[in-house]
Amino acid sequence: MGGVRVVVVGAGVVGFSTAVCIAENLRHVSVTLLGEKFSPETTSDGAAGILFANHNPDVPVEQQRRWFKSSFDHLRLIAQSEDAPEAGVMLSSGWQIFRDVPEDKTPYWSDLVLGFRIMTEREMVRFPEHRFGQAFTTIKCECSRYLPWLEKRFRRAGGQVEQRRVDNLQDLSGSFDVIVNCSGLGSRSLAADVSVQPVRGQVLKMEAPWLQHFIRDGDGLTYIFPGIQGVTIGGTRQGGDWNLQVEENDTRGILKRCSSLEPSLTRARILSSWVGLRPDRRTPRVEVEREVEVEVKKGGRSVTVVHNYGHGGVGVTLAWGTAMEALGLVKKSLQGNKAKL
Ligand SMILES: Cc1cc2nc3c(=O)[nH]c(=O)nc-3n(C[C@H](O)[C@H](O)[C@H](O)COP(=O)(O)OP(=O)(O)OC[C@H]3O[C@@H](n4cnc5c(N)ncnc54)[C@H](O)[C@@H]3O)c2cc1C
Repeated sequence: MGGVRVVVVGAGVVGFSTAVCIAENLRHVSVTLLGEKFSPETTSDGAAGILFANHNPDVPVEQQRRWFKSSFDHLRLIAQSEDAPEAGVMLSSGWQIFRDVPEDKTPYWSDLVLGFRIMTEREMVRFPEHRFGQAFTTIKCECSRYLPWLEKRFRRAGGQVEQRRVDNLQDLSGSFDVIVNCSGLGSRSLAADVSVQPVRGQVLKMEAPWLQHFIRDGDGLTYIFPGIQGVTIGGTRQGGDWNLQVEENDTRGILKRCSSLEPSLTRARILSSWVGLRPDRRTPRVEVEREVEVEVKKGGRSVTVVHNYGHGGVGVTLAWGTAMEALGLVKKSLQGNKAKL
């Protein structure tokens, strides 16, 4: 199968996860990753990186479980290895609390994280405005470390990396046999998919080394996630907002909401502030789109496009799971074209 060339577009957590999965599993294939922006300048870099997902009614539960489990198990192995500090992956325990008792008390991922249980009355005492809570151990994956680590792993598997903007996926069809599109919000133009929308999120990094447990309000707007260096607190969810500037108003709102859950934060120093745009879509798009016909000396051949984008606020959570699915689609496409085998 020598000579088969795959290109992955996108250097965020979805692109690098997909590129590593392909390079490590299809050793006979040459894999190149192209990206306009690399760490530390991608959306993935600033994500809190907590493995957590809401139920998406438009994706079969079995598929959501598969994506979640695949990512969780992959990252858990890293968290429990000597690579953990360099890769920025750690186990993280804490609480998700609700003002009203939710309909679904045991979400689809409850048996995929560790030690999931309903919080006791004694534990709820410190959250007097909340009536219900879930305690569990999940994973925090800090992409500012994880992406460089994945890049090393990709290069070790023979992958090549190039920094450049792609204006049209078709432009790649002359040089590659399969194109994998992991361009996040860039897919609005690269895949002509205007259903991918920005959802603006602002977070602050705090110096509060005494905080060891995460706290997440069930409304998804307010959270406190202790990490390897500093505590990420947030946040905002502003749909259709392209503003990448840190807004003072948002900073004040975040500090107020988070301090009401964890009063000691009023004594913590702000280390940094960050804004990112979640590549939101009704469902992540993990599918083969079409075969692009390329003229090769009149004979012609076809190039498959595999999409893997639109992960919204759960891209770190689902990256490895959707990458494995994209790998399956790439494999299938190569097997379907026996001429390349
Ligand atoms: C405030 C905030 C907090 C978050 N917290 C969490 C969390 O706790 N847990 C979680 O799971 N998720 C979280 N997320 C969501 C997560 O950050 C995203 O889902 C994830 O980063 C998407 O990854 P991606 O690789 O698809 O996109 P990106 O990281 O945006 O990467 C896209 C890549 O494509 C490249 N690209 C785009 N267009 C082109 C082009 N034309 N040519 C070449 N390259 C191109 C870009 O340069 C970049 O390299 C959070 C997001 C925000 C904003």
